[in-house]
Amino acid sequence: MLGKMMYQPLLISSLMEHAARYHGDTVVISKEVDGQTSHSDWSTISNNSKRLAKALATLGLKPSERIATLAWNNRRHLEAWYAVSGSGMICHTINPRLFPEQLTFIINDAEDRALFFDVTFLPLIMAIKDQIKNVKHFICLGDRDDKVLAQLPETLFFDELLVEQDADFEWPELDETTASSLCYTSGTTGNPKGILYTHRSTVLHSMALCMPDALDLSARDVMLPVVPMFHVNAWGTPYAAALTGCSLVLPGPNLDGDSLVTLIDDYQVTAALGVPTIWQSLLAAANAKGSKLASMNRNVVGGAACPPSIIKTFKDDYNCDTLHAWGMTETSPIGTVNQIKSKHNALSSDEMEKLRQSQGRPPYGVKLRLMDTDNPLEPVAEDGESQGRLQIQGHWIINDYYTHKPDALTEDGWFDTGDIATIDGDGYLNIRDRSKDLIKSGGEWISSVELENIAVAHPQIKMAAAIAASHEKWGERPVLIVVKEPESNITEEQVLEYYDDKIASWQVPNKVVFVDNIQLNGAGKMVKKDLRDTHGDVLLHA
Ligand code: ADP
Repeated sequence: MLGKMMYQPLLISSLMEHAARYHGDTVVISKEVDGQTSHSDWSTISNNSKRLAKALATLGLKPSERIATLAWNNRRHLEAWYAVSGSGMICHTINPRLFPEQLTFIINDAEDRALFFDVTFLPLIMAIKDQIKNVKHFICLGDRDDKVLAQLPETLFFDELLVEQDADFEWPELDETTASSLCYTSGTTGNPKGILYTHRSTVLHSMALCMPDALDLSARDVMLPVVPMFHVNAWGTPYAAALTGCSLVLPGPNLDGDSLVTLIDDYQVTAALGVPTIWQSLLAAANAKGSKLASMNRNVVGGAACPPSIIKTFKDDYNCDTLHAWGMTETSPIGTVNQIKSKHNALSSDEMEKLRQSQGRPPYGVKLRLMDTDNPLEPVAEDGESQGRLQIQGHWIINDYYTHKPDALTEDGWFDTGDIATIDGDGYLNIRDRSKDLIKSGGEWISSVELENIAVAHPQIKMAAAIAASHEKWGERPVLIVVKEPESNITEEQVLEYYDDKIASWQVPNKVVFVDNIQLNGAGKMVKKDLRDTHGDVLLHA
């Protein structure tokens, strides 16, 4: 027998309808590319997205067509998101920090029909325009600009499109499994792959994100998503913001520590999200400016392992809980978030510090398992010690890649993350490494993440990457690539001594290579593959 309750499809447009109806006057701040700050609210954003939805229809754009965006986190970008997905089209956010060849590949792979862009990215578009013939409309996120028209005469302007429309519009009632948005992986480990989210997966993910055991997001928050909207949809925060009706601060292009401290203090931000490198520079800036980041009670860190020193400094010096979270483009991205359980209230501060370093546990809606690295059919004990390949299932987890290649799932229906991890009896996850970054010394594995976390806690080390270097006797041995803090004259010997008593002596790197800079990819992660290509042989010629 079927139950007798209403069925309503879970649609992205319903998030915006809720925000407009019940939180219409809640403020949305946006830093624009021209340096201006705009003050808007959910009611205006809802109206503007409806007006834009009408404009897109008059351009002849149809449901299921891919509409790309090359833009920072700002108000018009947010309005375009809701207009596109709400109309049944697919919002394809693109990372502007990719190389032109990667941009061309992604735009052609997705067969994007229209492209929204911040004016700063015009040169990027001009460089690839001849290779992206499927794009029929270029829409600049701003008002009419003759300088833009001089270069790209067919450009349409967001503000002009809006002026021609009113907000008298009903969002279409779509099937909840309709595709809503498309993101490509940042390609750290190969060619970018497309992941196609649905309205249903997005709404369920947003609900999970807001739960107290995840981000604990509510209408009492002022949220600052530093993570870009092109990095796994800013981890779903623009949807969760509408769902809760919280206030939003969209940081625009300037993501340096100084600018972020100013935003946090000026707008009393309570929760912010970003990758570890963002927090590193924010802590340095807060220290230099003498800010206590007083309004911020939590920050979420993910995308790469967060060095424990960052978590500790936020807690000890700023009374801010750093929530370590783990996820991937393929997982929408939330897989786990670190929130404690009631039984942890009794922990000592050292024990609590240790617990907080874990990537956390899964919210309702996702399940994790560990499988043996050599025997993929053999489960691994979840005892907090045994390492295995991390696999995941859930309502917002990939089923199939956009182009159907490669197969996304194991034969029994799990997504293999490529991460090596432990899970304890309470479900707390510890990512040991990416399987491709683990260092195999003799028969033993060494976690590059662990070596890096220790190194960056040293006050004279700015960045550190541990890589596997070929070794005649052991197969691979760790080599540490280090960027010193300015003015530091730390030596190789001092770096290696810093590992004493922190890890077993056989895990200590064989060598330290000092470099001026370590390249970060578009998502702010260290490009370890390039480091391996450059330094992977240093121990052979020693
Ligand atoms: P790409 O795979 O192209 O780098 P993603 O942004 O999807 O793009 O990266 C997901 C990967 O990032 C995960 O598989 C994991 O290795 C890493 N990652 C994400 N969050 C964390 C975290 N908190 N700790 C350690 N690694 C993380």
